[in-house]
Amino acid sequence: MSAAPRVVVLAGGVGGSKFVLGVREALRRRGVADTAAALTVVVNTGDDVWLSGVRLQPDVDSITYALAGVNDAERGWGRAGDSERVNHELQEWGAGWPWFTLGDLDLGTHLARTGWLREGLTPAQVIERMSHRWPLGARLLPMTDAEVDTVVVLEDGARLHFQEWWTRHRATLAPARFENPGIETADPAPGVADAIAAADVVLLAPSNPVVSIGPILAVPGLRDLVRTTTAQVVGVSPIIGGKVVRGMADVCLTAIGVETSASAVAAHYGARASGGVLDAWLLAEEDAALADEVAGRGIRSLVAPLWMTDAARSAAIAEAALGAAGL
Ligand code: GDP
Ligand code: CA
Repeated sequence: MSAAPRVVVLAGGVGGSKFVLGVREALRRRGVADTAAALTVVVNTGDDVWLSGVRLQPDVDSITYALAGVNDAERGWGRAGDSERVNHELQEWGAGWPWFTLGDLDLGTHLARTGWLREGLTPAQVIERMSHRWPLGARLLPMTDAEVDTVVVLEDGARLHFQEWWTRHRATLAPARFENPGIETADPAPGVADAIAAADVVLLAPSNPVVSIGPILAVPGLRDLVRTTTAQVVGVSPIIGGKVVRGMADVCLTAIGVETSASAVAAHYGARASGGVLDAWLLAEEDAALADEVAGRGIRSLVAPLWMTDAARSAAIAEAALGAAGL
């Protein structure tokens, strides 16, 4: 058995967690026993928010719960079998956001996290501490320890926290742009630079290119780390057949002037040879006709089934991505 490939995944929540499960499974199938030593996930923290005095990290929690096998797979977020007693009580008090549901078990996570933050741990240290409860089989790093919550700026200049725009308004208010106030002075979290520099492959999960992968690459220095690593950088399209699989990536892409197509998203990330981050791009079979267009931009294109409907299919996608990197 050759040594385990060192894999770094850049990821958001739902698409990110399904893909990360696939990467862990692909590594296991290759006989990698200690997947946590081989697999590092750099997670978007742009979705994070303070609510009712606690810190929420939705994408970090989605990936943690999915890797631990305690996620609510049907609903797509939170813990399986959760209840909402505390949430009901908060609403009776008029606290928090009436349109934002916090599960009881989920609140336990947020309370633990907030307590440790208040004691002086950094977000990266809190995530590290939280990784001991369940055998995750991966190392999770926040993209940054700084608070850079995504703000949606509307055409009329109104500013909403990303969670309000998404959860309350279901992405129906047309965004003019997305901002991460404070990101200019943020640094990649400890461990991120070393992981990317030492990686054999860097994978861009099929996550929202604008509000999941976008904030990660916007952390000063992080994009350059991806651009200059000796590892191959392989992206997986979140767009299948010209449509988002789930969520509001189409609205986000439109806001930044990018068409909702697998080829346009690849062009948005760009070829490493011309200032972008990608060496290779996985397209869905439904988008096979776009492969030449992607290749024409200097990005190796590969066609594969990209529906992550179960762990086996996600593992096959991850295996294809590793293969695209020559691993
Ligand atoms: P969020 O943080 O919960 O919004 O999740 P992510 O940003 O990680 O992922 C959202 C993206 O995942 C959406 O743009 C979807 O199109 C994509 N996605 C969800 N399921 C699948 C799937 O089965 N296959 C592919 N290729 N993309 C998917
Ligand atoms: Ca998210």
